[in-house]
This record gives sequence, C-alpha cells and structure tokens, in this order.
Amino acid sequence: MTEQQAAAGSRSATGMTATNATGDAADGTAAPPHPGLRTGFVWDEWFLFHNTGLATGSLPSGGWKEPYEHLENPDAKRRSFSLISVSGLLDRLVRIPSRQASFEELRYVHTEDYLRRIEAGSREHGGEAGINTEYGNGSYEVAARAVGSVMNCVDAVLDGEVRRAYALVRPPGHHAGADQGVGSCVFANVALGVTHALRARGLSRVAVVDMDVHHGNGTQEIFYEDPRVLTISIHQRGWYGLAGEVDERGAGAGVGSAVNVPLPSGSGRGAYLAAFAHVVVPALRRFEPELIVVSAGFDASAFDPTSSMILGSDAFRELVAVLVEAAEELCDGRIVLSHEGGYSPSATPFSVLAAVEELSGVSTGVEDPFLWFIRDSPDQQLLPHQWDCVVEAALAADLPRPASATGGPLAGTA
Ligand SMILES: [Zn+2]
Repeated sequence: MTEQQAAAGSRSATGMTATNATGDAADGTAAPPHPGLRTGFVWDEWFLFHNTGLATGSLPSGGWKEPYEHLENPDAKRRSFSLISVSGLLDRLVRIPSRQASFEELRYVHTEDYLRRIEAGSREHGGEAGINTEYGNGSYEVAARAVGSVMNCVDAVLDGEVRRAYALVRPPGHHAGADQGVGSCVFANVALGVTHALRARGLSRVAVVDMDVHHGNGTQEIFYEDPRVLTISIHQRGWYGLAGEVDERGAGAGVGSAVNVPLPSGSGRGAYLAAFAHVVVPALRRFEPELIVVSAGFDASAFDPTSSMILGSDAFRELVAVLVEAAEELCDGRIVLSHEGGYSPSATPFSVLAAVEELSGVSTGVEDPFLWFIRDSPDQQLLPHQWDCVVEAALAADLPRPASATGGPLAGTA
C-alpha cells in the first residue's frame, strides 16, 4: 500500500468516503462505503453537449462531400452508457462524479494560447481546434469536464476509494498535442490525467497503454522526453497519416520510454494477444509503473468505420483482463481506463460493456449479438506476417526476442 492509500481516511476531492485497496475502510473504523463494489465509473450527460456538427466522415464537408453527421458524434458513447445501465452493470459500479478541470490544470500540458483560443471560440460558434477537430458552442467546458473526470478517476484509485476506474468521456483525447487539437481530440485527457498523478499526487512512474486503433501520437509527443512516463501504443500500421513506427522510442532523458506496436491491417484477436503478451506486458514489467492509465479505444473492432482490424468484444474483454492482471502484479491493481475511439453506434456499446464487465469482475449475462459474425474467422488467429510485426516491435524496444507465440506457434492463443 502506498502513502497515498494509507493516508486516505477521510473524504477526498471526489466526494466519496475513502477505503483502502482491499475495500476496507482505511481508518479501520467505518464500514466500507461500497462493500463489494471496487470499480469506479464516470459518465455525465454533459459529454453529449460537445457539438461536432455536420461533416463527411470526420472531414469538413464541401465540394463533392455531402454533409452528414460527424463521425465523432454522441451516439456511440450515449448508447454505451445506456447498455451499461439497462444491463444492470451500472448498479454494481461506484459512480465517480465528473468535474471540469481548471485552466491551471489544463496548462499542465496545453499552451495558454491554445486554451484561450478554444475558450474564446467556445463562447461563440466554435470552430476547428486543429486537424479534423471540430468543436462548438460550450465545447471548452465539456472537454475540460472530460479531463477533470479522468483526474477524478485517478484520485479515486490512488485514494483507494475504488480499485479500478473507467471514465466514459467525450471528446476523446489521445491525439491532442500541447497547442492543437487533432483527430476529434480537443484536450489531452489521458496525458493530463497522468500529469495530475505526477504533479498533484506525487507519483514518479506512470505507464500509458493505448489500445485505440489509431496511434496515440499526442500522448507520445507530450511525454517523448519524459522518463517518468512510459507510453505504449498498439495500433493499425500507417493509418490516418499517423506514424507510430517501432523506431519512435523517445528522446533525451526519455529514450526508451516510448514503445510502438504497429500491426498490419486485418489483425485480430491472436495478433493483439501476442502483442500484449510479448511487448506490452514485458515493457510494463521492465518499467514498474505505480499506476497504469489506458487509452481505451474500441475502434479496432471489425464493425468500426475508421479501421480495418477485426476485433470483437471477446478480444477487448481479454485485453482488459491482461492489463488488469498486469496492474495487480505491478502496481497494487491501480488502473484507470479513459474512453477514446469507437465509432459504431450499434456494435461499440457491446465492446465497452465487455471491457467494463472485465474491469469490475461482474458478468451481466448480456450476449454480444455481433460476435457470431466474426468469432470463427480463421483470420482471428495470429498469422505469420503479424507475428513478424510483434517480434520487430519487441526487438526495437530492447525486449527479449519472443521465442514463439504463447500457447503454440501461431495458434492464436497467445
Ligand atoms: Zn481511434
């Protein structure tokens, strides 16, 4: 138990009575406020008020591009919350309140000029925060609320109020840089949550695992020279003009603190499990984090309009299980998941449900009706060219050469 956990005996900034990591009252006198409930969860209807307007996909409409609802619209998130609610899972989670991050907190990562620009635009009709990052009236407050919600999850986990936490936030954050929005990300939710853990909570080593199908370029860039933060991104190779190649390893004092696993299009469960087994987990073990923060994107789904991967909700469940196990082994179970991409309003909710079920250890019995479309595809197995990418990523990160796919060469059970 850390000092932060040991000290957590009174009401905290998140407004919940604190317990230690085992769910017992830290001061030994009061009963646990949430007996048996160990997973925190943030959702707020304010996240639906971020207006990305009309677009063509995520591109500005115009010319041959007839306007349509922007790809990053409220539906997938709202419907994810609905499924978590009607399935009964919500009743088994500890609700963590949302809050707006302050201007000073946003300054941890973002430049004052950028924040002033978004603040001013948000008071009017919005605009473009950066490449493919539309925002509307009031979006500054909504985006700041996404950041503050991740910070609240970090606090709740560090205080031992909950053991793990999921922040179902919008807009996403992992593409945003210090002075610009990118790819629908206005503020850098995860990077700011991590910086909060470092600056406000005194942690010295935090790991980020980015399982969104797009490279976590913003998070990587922000911490590229910072040895206190390990960033690991598993993503579709050469996608959306983002880099994330294996030779991007950090710079200066941060050399070695960036790890990239670019996987070829068409990768499925076997490739992802191999990448987690042979790169992600060994890199986490070497780094020995005090906290793991996950950019939880679900756009590597077979049903996502923004990628060419073929994961189903079963794979997302297994990936979360691997990360939870790593957190249990390395950092007293402390893990926070922050929602990123996932753009199928129909299918994404089932993947989010599976992830939060796994995180909380609660099974609702809800079956994913989409899974049978893809589960038995032979391409879900680890294929030779995918294994080559996993080996290349491990070697580039100075990790041991993977001898074979766990569970048998190319068995898809790594
Ligand atoms: Zn994405």
